[in-house]
Parts: sequence; structure tokens; C-alpha cells
Amino acid sequence: MRKPILAGNWKMNKTHGEAVTFIEEIKGNVPSANEVETVVCAPALFLKEMNDIAAGSDVEIGAQTMHFEENGAFTGEISPAALKDLGINYSIIGHSERREMFNETDESVNQKLHAAFQHGITPIMCCGETLEERDSNKTEAVVKEQIEKGFESLSAEQVKQVVVAYEPIWAIGTGKSSTAEDANETCGTVRKVIAELYDQDTAEAVRIQYGGSVKPENIAGYMEKEHIDGALVGGASLKSDAFLQLVEAGK
Ligand code: 13P
Repeated sequence: MRKPILAGNWKMNKTHGEAVTFIEEIKGNVPSANEVETVVCAPALFLKEMNDIAAGSDVEIGAQTMHFEENGAFTGEISPAALKDLGINYSIIGHSERREMFNETDESVNQKLHAAFQHGITPIMCCGETLEERDSNKTEAVVKEQIEKGFESLSAEQVKQVVVAYEPIWAIGTGKSSTAEDANETCGTVRKVIAELYDQDTAEAVRIQYGGSVKPENIAGYMEKEHIDGALVGGASLKSDAFLQLVEAGK
């Protein structure tokens, strides 16, 4: 049985004070980590304090990106070793906004996945197609290529620990969510590709989230689907009451 994982992606939102208040509001109110993993992926500036406040609770704090090198001349970048040193155990890797606006590629995503495992960080690896790709029936091919290239040279044991977030780009921040049926179909494709690359056991172990305009009103439809093990939520993760409803529904 795969344990559900519900993650918030705050993107470039909130101030330090707002971040602290949010964690104080949710930390005693989320379900047990035995039932659902709860992760809040926040701007790097706030991670240490959020993690200190969340210590001992069922809330995990994650980064939104990281570099693949441990250190060096990479102005403005975030080191995986430094994240781990703060006790950060999760990072989103290859979000479509990073791919589109910050030149991340399947190759750099692959390097980051290797770096994450080197440092004991669980990667939440994003994939998903554009509207144009969907309209020309390329969804399966696009996602397949992202998984194949992203996973290159990872062992089956590592792949089992990857969280894949399937986020169709046209559904992100648009209020136009994928139907649960379509999302499940593509998450099933992700699983099938992993089974082909590795084996059925590995594919069955990987947790796959859906992301794209998920909110308290529609999350249940996704969670009941066979291949969907959680959600990666942007806008609706910013308010503590909505986030708590999402995590509760993720159980
Ligand atoms: P929204 O939930 O705001 O559509 O964002 C989805 C997303 O990009 C999460 O990573």
C-alpha cells in the first residue's frame, strides 16, 4: 500500500511572519504521518524557521528547488547539502515553472534527482504537458520522455522513493483542473513507463501526485483514483484552513 502524500507548493508567496503563523496554525492539526505525509514546500528563506517550528509534529518542510552541485560558484542557487544540514528532507524538482522560466531540462532534473539521493532528500519530481501538446495528443509521449530522461541511471530502490507530481501545465493556476479520469489515466501512464523501465514492483511502489487547480472542493475525486496517491497544491495551499482540509481529504 502506498502512503498518500499531500504537498503544498507556496511558490513565491508569503512573508516570513506569514510563513511562521501558517506552520503554528497547522502543526497540531494535521493527521498522523502514519496516515498521510504532509509537506509544505516554501521559499528557501523561511525553511529553517519553519522546520524548527514544525519539529516533532507531523508536518514536513520542503524546498521548491535545489541545485545539483553541493557547493561552488552558482550565484543565488540552493545547495542540497545545505538543505539537508537544516533538516530539510524534501524538494520539488523540475516544476514546470522552473523548466519554463529558469531553463531547467530533463537532463538537469536527472542530475538533481541523483543529487537528492546523494543527500538523503526525497525528490518530488514534476512532469506534465502543455495545452498544445495535449491538443495534439502528445501527452503520453511527453510524460514518457520526461520520466525516461529524468530517471536515467537511477536504481530501482531510488525510483521507489521518488514522488512523481503529474501537473498538466494548462491546469496550473488556471482554475481549469483536469478531470479525475484524465489525471488518473496519465498517472497510470507514468506507472506503466516506470514498469517498462524497471519492473512492476517498482512501479507499484512509486507515489504519484496530481497537481493543477486542486482545492478542497475537488480533491476527493482525485484521491479515490487508482493511480493517484496525493496532490501537489499551489494556490489552495496558501490558507491554513484550506490546507488542513486538503490534508484531511488526502488520508
Ligand atoms: P495550483 O494549485 O495553483 O494550480 O498550482 C499547482 C502547482 O503548480 C503546484 O506545484
